[in-house]
Amino acid sequence: MADSSNRDSQLEPIGIRLSDLSEGRTKYWTTQATPYWWRAAPPRSGPWTTPVKKADIVVIGAGFTGLSAALVLARAGRQVLVVDSSVPGYGASTRNGGQIGSGNQKFRVKTLIEMQGERKAIELLREGVEMLDGIETLIKEENIDCSFVRCGRFRGAMRPEHYEAMARDMKDLKQYAGVDSFMVGRAEQYKEIGTELFHGGSVLPMDASLHPGKYHSGLLDRVLEAGAAVYGNMPVRGISSEKHSHAVHFDNVTVQARDVLVATNGYTKNVGGFFRKRIVPIRSAQITTEQMAPDVLRALMPTRRAYGNTNRVFFYFRPAPDESRIIWGGRSNHFARDSVLAAYTHLARDLLRTFPMLGEIKVSYAWSGLIGYTFDEFPHLGRSPEGIHYAMGYCGTGVSRSTHFGRKIALQILGKADGQSAFSDLVFPSHRFQAFAKPAVPIVETWYRLRDAVGF
Ligand SMILES: Cc1cc2nc3c(=O)[nH]c(=O)nc-3n(C[C@H](O)[C@H](O)[C@H](O)COP(=O)(O)OP(=O)(O)OC[C@H]3O[C@@H](n4cnc5c(N)ncnc54)[C@H](O)[C@@H]3O)c2cc1C
Repeated sequence: MADSSNRDSQLEPIGIRLSDLSEGRTKYWTTQATPYWWRAAPPRSGPWTTPVKKADIVVIGAGFTGLSAALVLARAGRQVLVVDSSVPGYGASTRNGGQIGSGNQKFRVKTLIEMQGERKAIELLREGVEMLDGIETLIKEENIDCSFVRCGRFRGAMRPEHYEAMARDMKDLKQYAGVDSFMVGRAEQYKEIGTELFHGGSVLPMDASLHPGKYHSGLLDRVLEAGAAVYGNMPVRGISSEKHSHAVHFDNVTVQARDVLVATNGYTKNVGGFFRKRIVPIRSAQITTEQMAPDVLRALMPTRRAYGNTNRVFFYFRPAPDESRIIWGGRSNHFARDSVLAAYTHLARDLLRTFPMLGEIKVSYAWSGLIGYTFDEFPHLGRSPEGIHYAMGYCGTGVSRSTHFGRKIALQILGKADGQSAFSDLVFPSHRFQAFAKPAVPIVETWYRLRDAVGF
């Protein structure tokens, strides 16, 4: 079933049968955790020299949020310094699944209305649609070659009652946010996906996917062309704030800036207590198979969409752009013993549960990254009491959200009216004992997995 014509097979970093991995029979992973995306878009080390000592704005974090903001700020003539602890793009931005929805997937429409009231819920939903359209516009206008495609998303119902609930939610989504979708019953499901696992599903035909590594690389090019300075290997060790300026401290230098933007999401570290109390990092993992025969992949994913399911702890997958591989992702229980291997094992099990015929196919890449969770499951942007700007907390659906929030927060910094966002006035909840919240996540997640398994 593997594609024996694959001349690149010597380049595959690892090769272990899915059936072996699903039973935990491997020792590889911790040393070989290179994202598949880095193969076509290896992170660039860039300059590591000591930067200037003064800037209009220091952007901390060179992922999608930081770069999207830097692009707007540099083009507005600001002297922008973007820094990252590691290589630019080391964080989630080059490690994600590249699936792009309208940024609304966290809550059912009815739940959102119960939480926020109808008027606010509509504003939030519509801004979610704006995020999806916005990333497409940006990619086109900036001519970024990153395999962006409106492939649509199929979401499989894990139980018959999930199908009914999803159908109601899709109707609400059309009514309140104008989002098109259609339902696919179990008997017709084979047209969308070659599995018996689901009880039918929904399709959001305008959802999209891209190659996150290439998207990040293209964005970085545009930011550099716009005149911003981007430095890797520059971990911020602390920030001291005064009324109209901030001092950003690095190991060997302090940079003075009128404005600071924290764009560190799940990797947030050393930027102050305000953020530490509000963001919970959660590890999420991905595996990618070797290339398989194109007709095998075609039978499994005839419409080449992005895919997911209705579980609370869900898995998601897609074909690789331009290749016959499957990219499979899900949350990992990062406190389990030998946690990274446990996460990959879990992913392999879910993959085989969905496509049992792939046991002999090998896994070529496995990696993980950190997503930034918030206590209300909304993303947030704004300004801390110390006057530090921020945009973060995408809770695992951040490709379009981070691009959108980066742009919005930059416009806010510039004092532009179109920096206004429906998310701006949401209170960013904190947890005094964030250190305890972190270990609690796997417990809650285990509880959710149990509920997914027995269906209550
Ligand atoms: C495995 C995985 C799969 C995902 N799949 C999807 C998906 O399919 N669809 C989707 O929409 N979203 C997905 N996401 C989420 C999405 O990738 C993120 O929400 C998004 O990339 C966040 O971008 P960011 O720029 O805010 O943060 P990041 O890209 O994480 O960048 C933050 C950066 O801040 C830097 N940093 C932190 N502290 C400091 C400091 N003190 N000094 C200097 N630098 C610092 C870090 O080094 C890091 O590079 C996934 C995430 C993961 C991990």
